This record gives sequence, structure tokens and C-alpha cells, in this order.
Amino acid sequence: MWNPRRIGIDLDGVIIDHREHKRMLAEEYGFALEPWQTNSNIMRQHVPGEVFDTMQTDLYGSLTRKAPAVAGALQLLPSLKAEVYIVSSRRAGSIRHAQDWLLSHRVYDSVPAERIFFCGTDGEKRGYCDRLGIDLFLDDKISVLEGLGAKTKRVLFDEDGIARHLNAEERFTVAKTWDEFVVLANGKVHA
Ligand SMILES: [Mg+2]
Repeated sequence: MWNPRRIGIDLDGVIIDHREHKRMLAEEYGFALEPWQTNSNIMRQHVPGEVFDTMQTDLYGSLTRKAPAVAGALQLLPSLKAEVYIVSSRRAGSIRHAQDWLLSHRVYDSVPAERIFFCGTDGEKRGYCDRLGIDLFLDDKISVLEGLGAKTKRVLFDEDGIARHLNAEERFTVAKTWDEFVVLANGKVHA
């Protein structure tokens, strides 16, 4: 199958699960969202721009520390048979909260700090993937995957099952769970 040598993985929405916090914050601001409406590809459609921006600041600030891991992420990261990189678009002010989370969840045990990159904007991910020679990238945002270069295979992480509503199933390989992603990435069905 693919046999990637270097796998890149997004952080927020793929390793860190913000869905409950998003739902909770939206409610505080007066918007009752179904869990799927908090999906990063569509949440902007369900809350006004200024609320969305304030929510981003909260989510990627100190609230990050209280966010759970995405189901299976921490257990299955070490089982990937490739060099694993984390490439996040977090900006300077929110990086330390991500680092606290990575430390407290012992992610550095499986992905060393020198393979973790914070690039500031979604658009920068392409440059990082190209420079690092990432041949497979996992992200929960369609726009990020669309922006990657031709040498990087793309997998959409889609816990909410919304790919089919956004016509993303035809364009990207979809992994609904970490189990599915590991099967795709390692190139065979594992026991
Ligand atoms: Mg993400």
C-alpha cells in the first residue's frame, strides 16, 4: 500500500479533542450546537464570526489543558510504523498550552520535541510538510489537506462523519477513527 516513511499529524481535533469544550463555550455565548456542528470544517457556519474568534482564543488558551485526548490517539500513536511528526498551526500565544498538554499526556515519549512543529497558520503546513518530507498527512480540516503539496498523501480525520456531506469522500481518504488511520498508514490490517 502506501508505506509512508514520514507521517505528519495535526494536533487540535486529531490528537486533542475540543468538541465538548466547543459545545460548552458556544452554549455560554448563547448558541446550542449539536456535537457535529462543532466540527472544525463547519463550526463557522453555526456561530457569528466574533463568537467564533473568541471561542478560538478560549479553546487554544488555558482550556486546552483540560481537553481530553481523541479516542485512541495516545494509545495508537506509538504503533505507527513510520517517523511521526506533529505539525500544528497554533500561533505563538497558544503554543505553551499545547506543550503543557503534550507533556501531561506523555506524547513526547512517542514523538520527540524535535519532531513537533508549530507553524502559525494553516497555509504554512504545506511548506513544513515539503521541507520535512512528510509523505502522509492526517488533518481534520479539509482546507488544510487541500493546501498540501502533491507529494503528500492526505487523510481526513472525520470523527463526526461529515465528509460525505461536504463531498470530501471523493477527494480524500477518510479515517473516522484512529484505528482506521493506523490500518491505512501501516498498510495492513492489524490484529
Ligand atoms: Mg485540526
